[in-house]
Amino acid sequence: MALKYCQGPDCHTYSTQDRLKGPKGNKTYQTRRRSHMYYGRGNFCDQRCLYDWVAQYIEQGLDRFGRTTQAKHLTEDNAWTKDYEWRANPDESHRHYSRNAVTMEQRPLTEAQYNDSNYTLNTGE
Ligand SMILES: [Zn+2]
Repeated sequence: MALKYCQGPDCHTYSTQDRLKGPKGNKTYQTRRRSHMYYGRGNFCDQRCLYDWVAQYIEQGLDRFGRTTQAKHLTEDNAWTKDYEWRANPDESHRHYSRNAVTMEQRPLTEAQYNDSNYTLNTGE
């Protein structure tokens, strides 16, 4: 598995033992490099590095991708979420369904529909 670098802009400035790398006598604190990271969709070694990145780039990101300038409203048309009831019995499959958070209506889903991130009953934003 390929190693990738933490995207935290200040990762190398945190002087932990695992960041101290290099030949003997010439070690430096370096950006963490791992095969798997748990924060920020696998891009950051820890929460501090994630928040360092957010602090540095949040304004650019909001300007680039658009700011919320008015309240969004949860209505019947956009209140569908997916969920499932886990079944311990191996002969029974888990029960997948959509639930409308406004009307509380439930509709059954197939497992494929549940897993399809493009499938939704929502028709509005
Ligand atoms: Zn980091």
